Amino acid sequence: MSHHAELDWSEGLPASTRFGDVYFSCASGLAETRHVFLDNNRLPERFAALTAGDTFTVAETGFGTGLNFLAAWQCFAEHAPSGARLAFVSVEKYPLTPADLERALALWPELAEFAAPLLEQYDWLSPGWHRFVFDNGRVTLTLAVGDALSMYPQLDMRSSHGVDAWFLDGFAPSKNPEMWQQPLFDQMARLAAPRATFATFTSAGAVRRGLTVAGFAVRKVAGYGHKREMSVGELTEKPESGWQAPWYAPPVPPAVKTALVIGGGLAGASTAHSLAIRGWQVTLLERHGALAQEASGNPQGVLYTKLSAHFTPLTQLVLSGYGYSLRTLAKLLPQGEAWQRCGVLQLAQDADTAAKQTKLAEAGLPTEVLRTIDAAEASALAGIALSDGGLWFGQGGWVNPPALVNALASHPNIRVLTHAGVLKLKRSNDEWCALGVQGELARAPVAVLASAADTRAFDATADLPLKRIRGQVSVTPATAESLSLKTVLCGEGYVSPAREEAHCFGASFKFDSDDLSTNVEEHRENLAMLAELAPSLYDALGGAALDPAVLTGRAAFRCTSPDYLPIIGPVARSEALATTYRELGNDAKAQPDTACPYEPGLYANAAHGSRGLITAPLSGEILAAQLNGEVAPIGAALMDAVHPNRFAIRRMMRRQG
Ligand code: SAM
Repeated sequence: MSHHAELDWSEGLPASTRFGDVYFSCASGLAETRHVFLDNNRLPERFAALTAGDTFTVAETGFGTGLNFLAAWQCFAEHAPSGARLAFVSVEKYPLTPADLERALALWPELAEFAAPLLEQYDWLSPGWHRFVFDNGRVTLTLAVGDALSMYPQLDMRSSHGVDAWFLDGFAPSKNPEMWQQPLFDQMARLAAPRATFATFTSAGAVRRGLTVAGFAVRKVAGYGHKREMSVGELTEKPESGWQAPWYAPPVPPAVKTALVIGGGLAGASTAHSLAIRGWQVTLLERHGALAQEASGNPQGVLYTKLSAHFTPLTQLVLSGYGYSLRTLAKLLPQGEAWQRCGVLQLAQDADTAAKQTKLAEAGLPTEVLRTIDAAEASALAGIALSDGGLWFGQGGWVNPPALVNALASHPNIRVLTHAGVLKLKRSNDEWCALGVQGELARAPVAVLASAADTRAFDATADLPLKRIRGQVSVTPATAESLSLKTVLCGEGYVSPAREEAHCFGASFKFDSDDLSTNVEEHRENLAMLAELAPSLYDALGGAALDPAVLTGRAAFRCTSPDYLPIIGPVARSEALATTYRELGNDAKAQPDTACPYEPGLYANAAHGSRGLITAPLSGEILAAQLNGEVAPIGAALMDAVHPNRFAIRRMMRRQG
């Protein structure tokens, strides 16, 4: 069953058939939202009291139609000074379909200016974490799709001062008793900033008592319209937080918002972009004469990746990143030569793959995200004859990675320095100084190393277990027949619809190679892959007459880590890390609480493998949350799963016994 909301529109207003309750009242949902959630959290005055650089965090239960979010955003736009930011967090167990969201928000023409960008970005959502960025970075929405009781315990506020105001929404406690539980109220207190407020439309005694137990001082005040009473309050007692692994705790965000980012590929440009939209001044250093010259330099990359039906951390990260990349592309680049949302077809070339695909299709993702299709439908969607069915990723497509890198890096707060190869990083006067052959290239209190496997060339990150895997893509001119290919095809390799009258296909995987020249042997392998993947397309492109010696293409190194997850986050001093937590070698369950000995202001962003198009844009948001002191865009366990310290800590723990 789809996890999306099932609505009854018979009264002209959205009502939930599951809960037997309305999303908002018919009198005036917007006026009620303003009274209950905005005014009773004193948002107009609190927004007005912010100063440039501040981030105000609102968290909500039950995103529903987004009415509360849009009303809060409108209020923020009206009252907050420029330079202040709104971080809105919400959770939704049953997200509305895009069509229902559009219909619901059409009821509030007054909010159209805010609803339009939400509707532009809103699509069918998978379970998990989704980050939306609005108003050039001034407003972020972190939407967790899942049950409030299981998602809020994962919300990562370790870099943020906490939730400033809670909107405790959700259908009436009598209609939705599962949500209004003590563990939820306890989470509200855990995540709250000191003196955080909450407001809720209900005055149910059990809710008031639960919030009091959690540490809030609770009051009844006048409700909206015919509703006599509602509840508001303030956190008076912050609960003790349990032990948390200090090696994954982020360092205190730096005070000066200036950074240098080393590496002008997708990871570096994404980092620079996410910081720049938050008002940071960023210098992006690239050793070549232009951005995107290495692994991010292929003409076409595919927006898709293999997923696991077990929702492993990698699958969760990829699902979050996939949606985020699609939203980023839609905002930054028109479709055409830069990218195309043409759908991706992952062909089931053998029984084992077909079985895995069926399992994945039944794992609870919306069919609009992925679904299995037979050979006939696959052929119709692809525009060429195919003998296999497979998995259809209707939202996916191909991207010209250099176009995305350049779009990400083109921001007034980003200064791009090309021909700026950094040989050494030196810390002096609380700044990282990037030195090249020419001498000093740039300096800033924060440095982010986004140089793929060459990140190891710096002393502080020499221990990161980064591996290179050579990949060669082949390019061949399109033919009249091959132009009918309408979607990306994937299997062992991939081939894209024509861009600039050529098809890109590949790519080879070669370990232990330091060579970056293209070679005929790997072109031959790519051709064999293509012949197997789509014989009709192979024939359309020339078939056996295609000479590997005349194919063009390019080779680059992907950078991966031993667990295939990217490495994103603060870098510790490796010897000090080993000494500080040496007791883990005797007892892997030890709970030391000494702060992690981080290198001040040093961060890494690498190991995106062959899926940088999917994980790199989101990696910028992950780092920006840590650097700018905000809520993380993904859950805490996932933040830990990409933390650079994980390898050293695991090594220490394994040494036990
Ligand atoms: N705040 C919403 C708005 O502005 O449109 C209205 C919220 S509506 C009254 C309640 C929402 O809470 C529904 O979308 C419902 O699916 C969601 N919900 C109910 N129980 C939930 C739970 N346990 N976890 C997460 N969301 C839940």
